[in-house]
Amino acid sequence: MAKYVYFFGGEQAEGRADMRNLLGGKGANLAEMVNLGIPVPAGFTITTEVCTLFYQNDRQWPEGLEEQIKENIKKVEEAMGSKFGDPDNPLLFGVRSGARVSMPGMMDTVLNLGLNDDTVQGIIKMSGDERFAYDCYRRFVQMYGDVVKGVDHDEFEALIQAKKDARGVTLDTELTAEDLKELVAEFKAKYKEVVGEDFPTDPWEQLKGSVNAVFLSWMNPRAIRYRRINHIPGDWGTAVNVQAMVYGNMGGEGQEASGTGVAFTRNPATGERHYYGEYLWNAQGEDVVAGIRTPQPLEKLEEEMPEVYKQLTDIFEKLEQHYTDMQDVEFTIQRGKLYMLQTRAGKRTGTAAVRIAVEMEREGLIDRDTAVLRVPPGDLDQLLHPQIDPNTKYEVLTTGLPASPGAAVGRVVFTAEEAEEWAERGEKVILVRNETSPEDIGGMDVAEGILTARGGMTSHAAVVARGMGKCCVAGAGDIVIGDKQFSVGDVVVKEGDWITLNGTDGEVIVGKMELVEPEVTSGDFGTLMQWADEIRTMEVRANADTPHDAEVARGFGAQGIGLVRTEHMFFGEGRITAVRQMILADNAEDRRKALAKLLPMQQADFAGIFRVMKGLPVTIRLLDPPLHEFVPHEDKQIAELAEEMNVPVEKLEARIESLKEFNPMLGHRGCRLAITYPEIAEMQVEAIIAAACEVAKEGINVVPEIMIPLVGTTGELEILKELCDRVAKETMEKAGVEVEYHVGTMIEVPRAALIADKIAENAEFFSFGTNDLTQMSFGFSRDDAGSFINEYRDRDILERDPFQSLDQEGVGQLVEIGVQKGRSTRPEIKLGICGEHGGDPDSVEFFHRVGLNYVSCSPYRVPIARLAAAQAQIKNPR
Ligand code: PEP
Ligand code: MG
Repeated sequence: MAKYVYFFGGEQAEGRADMRNLLGGKGANLAEMVNLGIPVPAGFTITTEVCTLFYQNDRQWPEGLEEQIKENIKKVEEAMGSKFGDPDNPLLFGVRSGARVSMPGMMDTVLNLGLNDDTVQGIIKMSGDERFAYDCYRRFVQMYGDVVKGVDHDEFEALIQAKKDARGVTLDTELTAEDLKELVAEFKAKYKEVVGEDFPTDPWEQLKGSVNAVFLSWMNPRAIRYRRINHIPGDWGTAVNVQAMVYGNMGGEGQEASGTGVAFTRNPATGERHYYGEYLWNAQGEDVVAGIRTPQPLEKLEEEMPEVYKQLTDIFEKLEQHYTDMQDVEFTIQRGKLYMLQTRAGKRTGTAAVRIAVEMEREGLIDRDTAVLRVPPGDLDQLLHPQIDPNTKYEVLTTGLPASPGAAVGRVVFTAEEAEEWAERGEKVILVRNETSPEDIGGMDVAEGILTARGGMTSHAAVVARGMGKCCVAGAGDIVIGDKQFSVGDVVVKEGDWITLNGTDGEVIVGKMELVEPEVTSGDFGTLMQWADEIRTMEVRANADTPHDAEVARGFGAQGIGLVRTEHMFFGEGRITAVRQMILADNAEDRRKALAKLLPMQQADFAGIFRVMKGLPVTIRLLDPPLHEFVPHEDKQIAELAEEMNVPVEKLEARIESLKEFNPMLGHRGCRLAITYPEIAEMQVEAIIAAACEVAKEGINVVPEIMIPLVGTTGELEILKELCDRVAKETMEKAGVEVEYHVGTMIEVPRAALIADKIAENAEFFSFGTNDLTQMSFGFSRDDAGSFINEYRDRDILERDPFQSLDQEGVGQLVEIGVQKGRSTRPEIKLGICGEHGGDPDSVEFFHRVGLNYVSCSPYRVPIARLAAAQAQIKNPR
């Protein structure tokens, strides 16, 4: 029979760390800790396979599971010296989810399971504390009711409030054992009222219900949402960990006290090498993470319980040496005895990831390849994020904890729904909450930054924001949140007001601050990038349209420009009128006159880029978008232009009308423009070559690459290649200088990929335009697809947005065919990609595998692509 359940406890566990696919991250690591001799309360893990079977079998348990669970309960009983359901010496369980990768707070947990009116007596006997026992009991009824049967948490909270009112007290801790005992009865009555049946007293029934609830929570909307944001497949399933309870809320004094905490073996925000954590006395696990009470820093434990502190930090060292990575642990101290409840690779900011990787390599804990693989390329984004200009002086409204670094500027909103609504309208928002909960995940995802009034460095807001690489200030305790406003003293900030957050120092500032770009060539970041550059075999270029962008790109390490979209220059100051005159001219001669005005401007633009790039390759694309994008559409503008061009308004209107298309993306654009209006292409080629000659005379050796967009047939390229060569020759003769140049094409129409062998006869290079290639392969409009792509992702029709991460299965095939066929005709052909996918790490890995020479992406993503290319080389050497 299949093995569904794995025991951990005593001397030896059945699982190991490398079994995380089967046991989930939590279960695999609990087993590993047992194997390392670390104190862990005994328990067992029900595998992720059972979750899959559960969904396949109409939410039934597979045969044999029940027996296996019962056998394992016996083993836990032996290890813990107590018995499940025994009124004298009861064993209680905590039931927790555990997916392959951690999904903090997204799924359900039931604690203190096994309590009923009989076993509670055993807990009283064991602890000698009646109040504690009834507090556990009422927590259990509440959690079980909420998680397993969907009784609203607030229904129970209302009963607690009523009890406090009746007793004239304000804190939960002021309720007596008798009050709590009454509350248990009231909770059960509420349960019966809502659920329509009695609260289950049989511990086995309780366990079954809780295990099922954890499986079911795999499919709750927030877990689905989280998976979508983090690209976690829906069919992985969760494991269930059933573990003997230990009690951080069991009271006790001095060295016999109880408490619970979370800690990191290095600082998860900065990466600094020191222990970092928080704990609460007399609390149960979830209390620390929920951020309801503000906990104490871990260093305090060294004073308060030196022996436990020493034992704990010895465990930190053991775990780091064993896993060779920074660990995030949960621990409980029950009457002075330490238990570890979890260890996992700690989530960290991009800054911390880089520092930890570089320092661990230096410490000899990991090798260089491992260090390079340790940093998720997308996380570098955070390091590349702006900071508040260090040279500006500003007034800080209030401070909180520096939970996740970088700076953010946005307008204040107070709910996750509002954040999503505002962001949808294109507003930049800062989400301000007392504390966040997993329901807020969507709003957090769209916000520029997050500010909370309560909670510590390990609160939900802090953990999730760091994972998202988003600026967060947590636990800003002076903030009082009211109705659509918050105040600090007598300063009131209303919904929609601008604020700035500095997540690096935990500062909140009223108004919009100036942000500056970070330094990326020095320090640990510089070291990691240098290692990446030594490893990678694929080049990284940038898409840039201006000398300024080119400069930024160079700063980030771009090895050339893979795409200059010339049309972006057409909107510049003083140009659009000439462009419009060119477009709206109704004969070639007038068009040439307008083009003559544009020529020197384009030439100056190109020369500027060439100068910045100092001899590195620059690929300039001829005009691509449909012409109607440049013409005026408002009456007033049309009238002004008509006067300037000295033509009747009606004539101009008719010409504008004639440019309208039903499907402009599939219409008169790309090389189709150059074929029908060759004088436009002639002007552009002349500007490119003249600029190259100009800078060549200055001693800068440039090799421009002229790129023809949207080619789908051999005829198009033949005609335009001939045009380029002819104009280039004339221009060089005029300038009296010879420069080397190349003519190539984009591969962005599926047909071009399919006939790439023929296309390559006239193309010295290909650049895959994966934006259009995706649009035309799927038949999804790149400008309108957002609406249904989100639903497609929700319903698992699409795993990712194919405009962000290359669809390797489909569009990827076209790229592969293009590569193969292109090289079959012209083995030395240079192959690159300049669609948005050039900056997406998974796509970069794909492009490496299919053998492209370079990727080109937006300047800010260049470091990400450099690191992704290095990781691709380590994983698939070529
Ligand atoms: C592309 O289609 O991938 C491309 C780079 O061109 P554009 O985005 O300008 O259409
Ligand atoms: Mg394109």
